[in-house]
Order: sequence, then C-alpha cells, then structure tokens
Amino acid sequence: MDSQPYFPGLKPADPGPLSRFLPPLEEGVISAWLSHQNLTGNWLLDPFGFSPRLVLEAARSGYRVLVTVNNPITRFLLETFANPPPESEFTAALADLGSVKKGDERLEHHLQTLYFTNCEKCGQQIRAQAFLWRKGEAVPYARVYECGHCGDAGERLAAEDDIERARKIAATDGLHRSRSFERVVSLKDENRFHAEEAIQHYLPRPLYVLTTVINRLESLSLSPERRRALTALILLACDAGNTLWAHPAERPRPKQLSTPNQFREHNVWMMMEHGSSLFTEMGGRVACETWPRRLPEDGGICIYEGRLRDLAHEVKKEIPIAAVFGSLPRPNQAFWTLSALWAGWLWGREAVEPYKAALRRRRYDWAWNATALNSMFNHLNELLADGVPVFGLLPEPEPSFLTSAFSAAEVTGFALESVALRTEHDPVQAIWKSSQKPEMSKANPGLVQDALHNYLSLRGEPAGYLHIHAAGLITLAEAHALKPSELEFDEVLRRTHALFESALKEDDRFVHYSTGEGVDTGLWGLKLAAAADESLSDRVEIAVVTYLQKNPNSIFIEIESDLNPRFPGLFTPSKGLVYAVLNSYAEKDGARWTLRAEDVASARRDEMNNVLNLLEVIGKRLGYETRMEDKSILWEENGKPVHSFYVLASALVGRALENADEQTVIVIPGGRAALAAYKQQRDPALASRMKKFRVIKYRLLRALNEVQILTRESFEEQVASDPVEQSRGQMMMF
Ligand SMILES: [Zn+2]
Repeated sequence: MDSQPYFPGLKPADPGPLSRFLPPLEEGVISAWLSHQNLTGNWLLDPFGFSPRLVLEAARSGYRVLVTVNNPITRFLLETFANPPPESEFTAALADLGSVKKGDERLEHHLQTLYFTNCEKCGQQIRAQAFLWRKGEAVPYARVYECGHCGDAGERLAAEDDIERARKIAATDGLHRSRSFERVVSLKDENRFHAEEAIQHYLPRPLYVLTTVINRLESLSLSPERRRALTALILLACDAGNTLWAHPAERPRPKQLSTPNQFREHNVWMMMEHGSSLFTEMGGRVACETWPRRLPEDGGICIYEGRLRDLAHEVKKEIPIAAVFGSLPRPNQAFWTLSALWAGWLWGREAVEPYKAALRRRRYDWAWNATALNSMFNHLNELLADGVPVFGLLPEPEPSFLTSAFSAAEVTGFALESVALRTEHDPVQAIWKSSQKPEMSKANPGLVQDALHNYLSLRGEPAGYLHIHAAGLITLAEAHALKPSELEFDEVLRRTHALFESALKEDDRFVHYSTGEGVDTGLWGLKLAAAADESLSDRVEIAVVTYLQKNPNSIFIEIESDLNPRFPGLFTPSKGLVYAVLNSYAEKDGARWTLRAEDVASARRDEMNNVLNLLEVIGKRLGYETRMEDKSILWEENGKPVHSFYVLASALVGRALENADEQTVIVIPGGRAALAAYKQQRDPALASRMKKFRVIKYRLLRALNEVQILTRESFEEQVASDPVEQSRGQMMMF
C-alpha cells in the first residue's frame, strides 16, 4: 500500500467551547486534503458529525457539506459556529438575564452572592472563582480567588463562612434536583433513574444556578438571535457546573461520567461572563440549512438531523456525493450522557427524545464501537457510488480504536488505501474507497510477522506498539483478513491483538525495549541491522537541513509539508523530532527558522577541516603519528592505532558507529550534542551502541589546544568526562 503523506495542520489558537469533549483536531488538514483531490461535483458528506469545526472548514473550502448529526448539542454548536451571534448580542443577553428580578434583587446579584467569600488577607467580601471539593464530602475544602482590593490570589482553605454557605444551599437541593430531571424525562419514564444518576454529577450550588437561569431563559422575551446567544452561554454553564473538573487537571479530556477524587466547582456565572468570545472567534459566517432545504453553489452546510440509515435512500437519488470525510466516533459516555441531559435542560423533553438512549449509562467498549461503526459504514456504502474517497480522522488513536475502525470499514466494502500516523497524540489519517464487499479470508501469522519485520527494517529504528499495530492492520486489510465472517467484533479485537502479540513474542528477530510486560508498552526493534542504511531520525535530520539550506526563513508547517511526502504513512516524523533537529541547526526569528550561520554547509565544512587540523596538531603535540583515513584521523604509536577520531558536522552518529572499534572517538559540534542525546532517548539500540564509544565536542578540542602543558593523561581524562548531553553554551571546567 502506498500511503499518503500526513497532512499537517495547526492547533487552533482558541480551543473553543466544550473542546474537552470534541475531537482534538488540527486546522487546515481537511482543506489541504480537499485541495489534493480531483473531485467531480462539490457535495461532501460527513456521516458522523462529531466535529463541528471540521465541517465548517470543509464548507469554507467551497464545498456543500451534508452532515448527519444526531447529538442535539453538537448540532447546536455547529449551527452557532456557522452563524455566530455578534459579541454585542452575548453581552446584551447576559445583561437581560442579570437584570431580571429575583425577589427584591437583581438575578445577577442574587447568584453572585452564592459565591461570596472573604479575602484571607484583607478580609473584604469578594467573589470566588471556584471552590475545591473532595469526592463524597458535603462541603468544599478550599476556594480559589483573586482579590481586587489587595491582590491576594490563589488557592486558600475554605473558611467557616464558605462552609456555612455551601450547607445552606444544600438544604434546598431536593426541589431543584427533581425539577432538573423532570425537564429531561417524565416521572413515568424508564430512563428517569438514568437522568437522576447523571444529575448526581452536579453539586447543589451549580444546579441551583443552572435551574434558575434555565427557567428565566424560557420566560424572557428575546429576539431569536439573542436567545441563541443566551442559550450558548448557558450551555457553557451546564458544562462548567458539573463535577468532571479534576483538580489538579490530570485528565483534561473526560470520557467517563465519574467524579474525580478532587475537583473544581467553577463559579458558573463567571464562566458565562467569559464565554462569549469562545463563540464569536470562529471565523466568518457559513450558509447553514436543514435537509432537505438547498444550499448555494459556492458552499455551505446542510444538516440532516436523523440517522444515516434514513438518509441513504434520499441521498442516492438526489445528491452525487464526491467525497466523504469525518472524525470517526470513539466512545465518550460522559459527553453523550451529558448531551442528553443538557438538551433536556435547554430545549425540553422533546429534544431529548431522539437521543434518549444516550442517558442509559452503558459501557461503551471497543466492540460496541466497532458494531456501531459497522452499521454506519454499511449505510454509507449504500448511498455512495463505487470509488468515492473517504478521508477519516481518528483522534486520540489507540490500537483498539484502529482495529475497530479498520475492520468495520473493511467488512462493509471500504478498501483501505492509506494510513498516515504521526504519534499517539495526533489523529490518524486514513483513506478508504467505497467498493464492493470483499470475500473475507483468514489471517496467516507468518504474513503478519514478515510485515512487522519489514516495517521496522525500513524504519531503521525501534517503534512504539501503535505503529506496529497499524502496520499489522494494514497487512490484514490488504489480505482482506481483518474480520473473518464467523467472528463477532469482540472476538476480532481479541484475536487481532493476540495475533500481533504472538507475532512479536514468538519471533526472535524482534527485541522488546520495555520495563513493562505488556506487548503494548515500550518500544519494539530488530535484533539484526535494518534494511534502511540510516535510521528514520537520521534521514529526517538530513531532510530538514537540506530543506533549510534551500529555503531559509521557513515556518514550521512549510517544513512539515516538505518533509511528510518524503516520509509518508507510518514513517511520518513526529513534531518532537523535527523540533530537535531545528533547535540543533537553526534559529527562530518570530515563527521563521533559518540555519545558524555556523551551520550553513560551507561554514560547516571549513569548521570540520579546522577540527581535523586541530586533531593533527594535538596528536603531534602528544607525540603520536597522525594520518587521515576517510573521514577519520588516526593517532598511532609504533604503527598501532591508539585513537581513531571520526569527525561529524551532523548528529548522524549511526554513520560513525558503522565501522567503529575500541579506538573510535566520535567528534561532533557542541550544537549537535542535544540532538544526539535526543536520538539516544528515542532509540535504546542506538543508546546501548553509543555507550561503548567516546563522544566529544569540537570545543573541547579547541580548549585542549589552548592548554599550555598537555599530557596524554590529562587528554584522556578530558575526553572521558565530556558528556554528550551537555547543553550548548555551558562553560568548560578548566
Ligand atoms: Zn484582599
């Protein structure tokens, strides 16, 4: 399989509302992919509707995007991003809400008093930004504030007043709690229990604030635009108000509806005050209609509210889909359950009805995910002609996610064309083409073993399990052996993992570098030399430097865009590696990278020659015979080699190690030391080979040459103590 290059993108400047639940994708990826396609027609389909921003970007590229969305919250976000109310409407909406009377006082003041606390330093009454709780306790243990009077700020233990206030609010909790689930399901509904359970993830104070403002949202008479703005702010409050905010935030992207041991109770009103910019910074407007209303020729979004199943017949007749794209769904019980809850709070029971199944607190495992994907892909293939490309993004990839997606696609007639994988922290980019359902066959273990061996051999350095797993899946997909017809998806997942595990463990060509037992821990490499002359990281180093020689003043994404086609598919360089090379060779001016003056090729060559001369001079001073051999300088005594210095301008230590022996000393520029150290961290095989040899830096030789009385002993001492990881610019110790 000739994999496509990984399409690089940019992290969004602003993560946007509910970003902790939405797929973490880079911007610019889908538009880059589309610009490489030769599509007939401009209708695209996103059958998953999981990422509003992805849909927007495709529409902004000039396409008409049909998207199926059955989560009412995602749908609301998509509509709001496509057509955001102006910032003034957000401000006005919050002012309208705040000035409603609650008894004698303004609602805003009433709700703010719930968050009053006294500054520990100056004693003034101020608003807390948050309270901190321990799971299961009845009162908070700490508060977080910034005092506007004296400047005292941070986390302080809860005072008696704070505890008293929390107790008082809890005393009236029952009423608000029952009101809040009645908005979601009726008392007789079988899902009532599930709604109640979900609401357990709200403390009394935020629940009181939320039920109060949601009540007012209904009774206020607002223009449609202002109502949308207020709804958007209350949606932010709904998320800010739950207990799924670990403190400190070690799991910033919750997948399960479970309260962390320590968590943050946000000041919900304050979150609404800060929320409007999240919606207004999404770029220009995009036409957005509901199916079957039609879109302008130059692009827009058409939302289909139902399921793909129901859309299939309608679309096949009327709309020729040129390409399919989307962020593939992965289980998120927390977001799905909360979405059903919030839909009920914001729009009432009817809005929950089509999405009610999400309330049932179930275990969404990977087999469930594969079954759901299988059904989606099945309906998708029904509405597509043969040969339509499908560009799938798999965010937060893990082996089981890949197995579930690839096997579901394969068995429904989507032929896998390409898999590009950067790291486990980046979305996988997979490309399929719609075709006929293949005849499935059985996997041959030998085939998998050879494929994994071949991958590692071409890589020239060890790889983590995710890359190995992907290489194995590609082989199974090519053999149509991902899902033999008699197997259910849970068995497919188990069997695939077991197949790869035994392929690795029962073949002594592979080496496991890991402190853990599990096949998916650490790194896997090869015992014997690889087919590639140079490791992936060495080849990336050469490519980056070559690019910068020709293209000074480049920004990172330009470098990546040149690099990725040279290292496609599973060879995509990580950003960490590219940055390690850049930091070693180049300087950054703003966002632009240029080779350092001393790292321009001609300067480096001169410098290398200087170092070779120095070695000759020092060698002679110490009474050795010296001679050049290839790129090395030999010091000899009585015709026997004492030292062989291999001088490098790069960090391509692999080259130096090829013919290295006991006498070898590798000499590198000081600016390369950190890169050489980084490569050893990445590659345990390289690290253990390097251990046997001395590595010194150019500047040590320069310094030694300055020393008036240099003996063989002091030379050896200095060479032995020059650490490779010593960073640039550190002082020499003599
Ligand atoms: Zn103060």
